[in-house]
Amino acid sequence: MRTERKQPVKMKEFTPAEQRAARAARIEVSEAEPYGWIAHSETDGGGSYHLFCDPAAKRLVCTCADFIFRGDASPAYECKHISATLKYIGRRYLEHDYNPRRHRQAA
Ligand SMILES: [Zn+2]
Repeated sequence: MRTERKQPVKMKEFTPAEQRAARAARIEVSEAEPYGWIAHSETDGGGSYHLFCDPAAKRLVCTCADFIFRGDASPAYECKHISATLKYIGRRYLEHDYNPRRHRQAA
């Protein structure tokens, strides 16, 4: 039996975007009623945040403090909940809606 332990990865060796992507892997996303999504983060002490699509900007908006403060400074900012929700939407799209033939038929 191996007793050596894996060295923990030092977070500071990653860029901020990579750190957010790594943390996003531990966020569970589900559909919210009546619209949007709920991101549940175990790493934030079990906090849940509501995300929805801003109809004007066509971008996801999150209710967490990180997004509210840093999103003001940089409109393209994506918090870890947005990263997780984009992955969730992408997977659902590929599983349920993606159909390459539909584009040809519509043309
Ligand atoms: Zn957020």
